[in-house]
Amino acid sequence: MDAPYAKLDQLEPGIARVLAHNPSAFTYFGTQTYVIGEAEVAVIDPGPDLPEHVDALEKAIGGRRVAAIMCTHTHRDHSPAARPLAKRIGAPIVGCAPLALETVGPRADAAFDGDYAPDRVLADGDSLEIDGEPVTAVATPGHTSNHLCFAYRGALFSGDHVMGWSTTVVVPPDGDMAAYMQSLDKLRQREDRVYYPAHGPAVTNPRQYVRHLVGHRMQREKQILGLVGSEPRSIPDIVANAYPGLDPRLTAAAGGSVYAHLLDLERRGLVEQQQDRWKTA
Ligand SMILES: [Zn+2]
Repeated sequence: MDAPYAKLDQLEPGIARVLAHNPSAFTYFGTQTYVIGEAEVAVIDPGPDLPEHVDALEKAIGGRRVAAIMCTHTHRDHSPAARPLAKRIGAPIVGCAPLALETVGPRADAAFDGDYAPDRVLADGDSLEIDGEPVTAVATPGHTSNHLCFAYRGALFSGDHVMGWSTTVVVPPDGDMAAYMQSLDKLRQREDRVYYPAHGPAVTNPRQYVRHLVGHRMQREKQILGLVGSEPRSIPDIVANAYPGLDPRLTAAAGGSVYAHLLDLERRGLVEQQQDRWKTA
């Protein structure tokens, strides 16, 4: 399939998408940047700092006033283009907090954009207005500790918290499985009509889809408990048993996800660690 890079795709009145050319095993065809609003706009998840993507965004904006460049979180495929775009169009960077970490601290890793410097941080429930209509932050930690979704006209821009093509990567130390599950639960209480994720197609049945994601994680947790219940196991051993036929490029992410489950289970007193093996507590 030819993905439509650097092209403006109008999804509904007031919501358009530009796909960045950064396809990978983690980003699907690439990061989807959204341009929302009409006379006045906001840009959601400007994406990686690729000149042709920033050009495409500037063209999509078409000289309209930009109320904000908004970032759901600070992974490198989401926030780096905020800076060159802000410079070109003179708009503020608004949204998630920078990660509360020293750039070389234990929560940082190469996937994070350590240069992200917002002009305004939105807390849960904070809004800004585009053409008099609110865009509201919904705090959804889990994939990262600083992750926000943005609600606008009944749509939820779900970033990497809920994606349309794959389950979300939750990798410690910054990723947190218990927080992720709580954030899924938070979405279940909402009545959004559609999700526009940063990767993959729109989710048109949000409540059902979130229920399915919760079920998937609970199934995975049960499977991990079963595996460590039969004998003490290392994480690679659990991955080999729990993810048959896994794309080798995703082995590390699967290991991180298993580790996130184990830490959550340990906190709940259900498993314990013995050297590099885990067993039932
Ligand atoms: Zn991410």
